[in-house]
Amino acid sequence: MAQTHLGTALVTGASSGIGALYAEKLAQRGYDLILVARHRERLNALASSISTRTGRAVEVLPADLGDRTALAQVEAKLSQDASITLLVNNAGIGTHTPLLQSDVEQMTRMVELNITAPMRLAYAAVPGFMARGQGAVINIASIVAVAPELLNGVYGGSKAFVLAFSQSLQKELAGTGVQVQAVLPGATATDFWAIGGLPVENLDPGIVMRTEDLVDAALLGFERGEKVSIPSLHDGGKWDTYEAARQAMAGHLSSNTVAQRYAVVH
Ligand code: NAP
Repeated sequence: MAQTHLGTALVTGASSGIGALYAEKLAQRGYDLILVARHRERLNALASSISTRTGRAVEVLPADLGDRTALAQVEAKLSQDASITLLVNNAGIGTHTPLLQSDVEQMTRMVELNITAPMRLAYAAVPGFMARGQGAVINIASIVAVAPELLNGVYGGSKAFVLAFSQSLQKELAGTGVQVQAVLPGATATDFWAIGGLPVENLDPGIVMRTEDLVDAALLGFERGEKVSIPSLHDGGKWDTYEAARQAMAGHLSSNTVAQRYAVVH
């Protein structure tokens, strides 16, 4: 049962999988909820079950985030409702297929949902958070953000965008009271896999995490103020080393002279 009231969390992709667990866990922590996804009946069932169990106010906002008109309605909600303190950008689709077996129209829909929607929703929410000096964005990326060779390249690229956008916002928003966390789940036991054409039962069970474990761990990372959380990476030092190497290189990437290895011999 909830202890404190932490404002309202708007969770996209809340009708199943990781998003539904976020909704549940955030309500338990004391957030009211706005649940966004396409399946209205699933959202209604979840809303009524969560509000009965936690006593929290739960609103549903059915929307296809791949549709600009529907997306604009969610943007309007985020920019106008000052009770919203947390945006969870979770809705997403993915697949494992290579370019030759992928439909470019489906890839474009993936870009709209995985990149355009979370970007526009962050643009709608963050100005209000900054004006009020508090608020947070949780962006659900994926481990493929740093390992794009594992699945479909457009999916990996879309999640690399989510990670890079989050890291840039973390720098921009430092000191404003607005927190941004990128979550990089590894394989997680949801409908994501079957929808993408490779049911999760086809994966090595040793690499598949329970959805509840993923969300509990990611929320622990959020509460610790972590910028990037990778619940399935056992040796956290590996991320620290990777990130330190990236940061060390960043200051050397631009120059008015050509690197010696590209020197043209005339
Ligand atoms: P999921 O169970 O398939 O959930 C996806 C959610 O997104 C559903 O609530 C779905 O609801 C919603 N959604 C899909 N298309 C939408 C649209 N056009 N407009 C609005 N909502 C839409 O999969 P999941 O694993 O929980 O995925 C959640 C996030 O985790 C995704 O961003 C995914 O890329 C990421 N992720 C998953 C894994 C994994 O192994 N499962 C690993 C890394 C990252 P409706 O169908 O009702 O619209």
